[in-house]
Amino acid sequence: MKAVLVVLDGLGDRRCRSLGYMTPLQYARNRVLDRLAAEGETGLVDVVARGIPNGSDTGHLALLGYDPFTCYTGRGPFEALGAGLDLRLDDVAFRCNFATVAEDGTVIDRRAGRISTEESRELAESIQTMEIDGVQFTFRHTVEHRGVLIMRGKGISHRVSNVDPHGKTSTVQKPMPLDDSPESIKTAQALEKFLEKTRQILQTHPINIKRREKNLPPANYILTRGAGRLPNLLPFEKKFGLKAAVVAGGALYKGVCRAAGFDVVNVEGATGTVNTNLGNKINAVIESLKTRDFVLLHVKATDTLSHDKKPREKAEMINRVGEALGKMLEQLSSDTYVAVTGDHTTPSEIGDHRGDPVPVLIWGPDVRGDSVTKFDEISCMYGGLGRIRGVELMPILANYLGTLELYGE
Ligand code: ZN
Ligand code: ZN
Repeated sequence: MKAVLVVLDGLGDRRCRSLGYMTPLQYARNRVLDRLAAEGETGLVDVVARGIPNGSDTGHLALLGYDPFTCYTGRGPFEALGAGLDLRLDDVAFRCNFATVAEDGTVIDRRAGRISTEESRELAESIQTMEIDGVQFTFRHTVEHRGVLIMRGKGISHRVSNVDPHGKTSTVQKPMPLDDSPESIKTAQALEKFLEKTRQILQTHPINIKRREKNLPPANYILTRGAGRLPNLLPFEKKFGLKAAVVAGGALYKGVCRAAGFDVVNVEGATGTVNTNLGNKINAVIESLKTRDFVLLHVKATDTLSHDKKPREKAEMINRVGEALGKMLEQLSSDTYVAVTGDHTTPSEIGDHRGDPVPVLIWGPDVRGDSVTKFDEISCMYGGLGRIRGVELMPILANYLGTLELYGE
């Protein structure tokens, strides 16, 4: 028995005026998704908890069976793992942006004019490693203006605030300890020194001198956020008896899965954008299932289009994914289960995450089925799975696969 969990990021939505008061799923009316819902069983998922708008990091932890309320500290470590870095449990990791910051601390552009990957890489080389107050700093560039920072050393803590104002104010925030512990105070102080040092190095870097000459915003500052520690997760294979792999474009999803002990399958053309190569991803799922019991297939574009307030394009993307899943179904062995859901609701007329539940379906040889014949937020209210929490999805799936141990005797 095997299973594929398909997560369409930010799949859940609300009724959209521009779609005749339908949700993008209702508007898409995809024949493959509707067939899976008709033959399978359906329901709604409160991914993290009822009414709580959640991020993709906590959402995926929950969907994989890990309670984010007990294991989550911040997004940084997942981004670092997803970028291919190795972390120790006591490291503190941040996600970072190269930004343009004025002398007085005003953030002029938090993406440094969307600086290219090539330029960012060269800049990153100049600040790769540093030691401050006995703490080792490692900075790695990932894509475009993004990167990750790892702090390693004795007596540090992830309890430090974001430097990135992220639209809330217009000035760089000083890293502050989030509690009174000497560890948090030491971490905030060392981080502040690191940021000042990198500012000096970046300010006079040849790449930035060239950018100023061309009237482009210099990437003269590192904005950190999402400080966190890697949770010590019970490996997925131990928890559910399933050898697992992930097929995704975005680093975060690979990172969450790596933390749970998944194999990461790198797929050409899996970009985590609207232009992602769904065909290649489906092929990778089929190939991965030959040697594994469980594959997580993640598609980011549905969330991106929701943030861009494009409900119609979101519906089109849902249809593209549905068609790709149709091709996948043709190639699956008859003992395979398929579950489809989202990691949170992103209403595409609001453009941000909300805490509404997300539709879910489970299809496979032995499901009881229910009377629901369509896959959307409203139809799935009447499904046989009822309303479940995100952390309950994996036990339900693993129960079908017969890999759970008996509770009691
Ligand atoms: Zn998400
Ligand atoms: Zn989002």
